[in-house]
Amino acid sequence: MTDTTPPTGSTAAQGRSLVSVSGLAKSFGDHEVLRSIDFEVMTGSVTVLIGPSGSGKTTVLRSLNALDLADAGVVRIGDVEVDFAGPVGKAEVATLRAQSGMVFQSHHLFPHLTVLENVTAGPVLAQRRDRAAAEEEGRELLRLVGIADKADAYPYQLSGGQQQRVGIARALAIRPQLMLFDEPTSALDPELVGEVLTAMKDLAAQGWTMVVVTHEIRFAQQVADQVLFMDGGVVVERGTPEEVLTRPRTERARQFLHRIL
Ligand code: ADP
Repeated sequence: MTDTTPPTGSTAAQGRSLVSVSGLAKSFGDHEVLRSIDFEVMTGSVTVLIGPSGSGKTTVLRSLNALDLADAGVVRIGDVEVDFAGPVGKAEVATLRAQSGMVFQSHHLFPHLTVLENVTAGPVLAQRRDRAAAEEEGRELLRLVGIADKADAYPYQLSGGQQQRVGIARALAIRPQLMLFDEPTSALDPELVGEVLTAMKDLAAQGWTMVVVTHEIRFAQQVADQVLFMDGGVVVERGTPEEVLTRPRTERARQFLHRIL
C-alpha cells in the first residue's frame, strides 16, 4: 500500500511552524484588500478563516498559493520564503506555488479523463512521476476521500460532492506540504456538504496541515486548531474556536456570527 500521509507527517515536524505570513498587503487598483496580515500555522494543524464576504479571505489563500502576488509582506511555507516587497521572479513564484494544493469552490475536472486520470495528471504530466506509482497513489488518495469505487468513472457520472472529493484528491496528488480550501462546500447542494466535510475531517485526522475558508461554523468548532476572523482586510480576532466562535471579543465578530448562525 502506498503512503498517503502528509509529507510533513513525521513526528519531529509536528508542533513546528509550517507557515508564517507577516505584513501581507495587497491592493487591486485603489482598493486595499489586505492590510498587514500576520499569522502562523503549525505543522499538522487546521486554521479556519471566517469573515464577511469581501473581507479578504480568498485573497489570503491565493497569496499563499501565489495565484495572487502580494504587494508586500513575507510568506514562508516550510523552507521556501518569498518577500513580496522586492521583485519576485517566476521561479520563486513556481516554487512557492508547489508547496500547497488548492481546493476551490468547484472543480473544473477534465471531462474526457477518468477520475483516476484527473488525479494523476499533475504527478505524471507536470511532475514527471512514474505513471504506475502515481496510479497506485491516486487510488489510495481516492480511498482516503471515500470514492475509491469511482476511479474509472468520468466526471459527468459523479455528484457534485463526489466531484469535489476528486478535486481534493487531485490537490493531494502533487504531495503539497499545505492544503488550502476556498469555500469547498459553498457551491454544493446541502445534502452533499457533509460528505466533503467528512473527507476534510479525515485529512485533518491524518495530520495534513490545512488552511480553510468556510462558513461552516460547526466544522470550524470541531476541527480547527485556530480560527482567524477577518474583516476589512485585517485579522480582527484570532484564537481557538472556543475563543473566537463562542466568546468573540469584538462587536464585529459577534455581529457576523449572529448573522450566519
Ligand atoms: P472574501 O474571500 O473574504 O470574500 P476576497 O479576498 O475574495 O474576499 O475579496 C476581497 C476584496 O477584493 C473584494 O472586495 C473583492 O471584490 C476584491 N477582489 C478580489 N479579487 C480581485 C481582483 N482580481 N480584482 C479586483 N478586485 C478583487
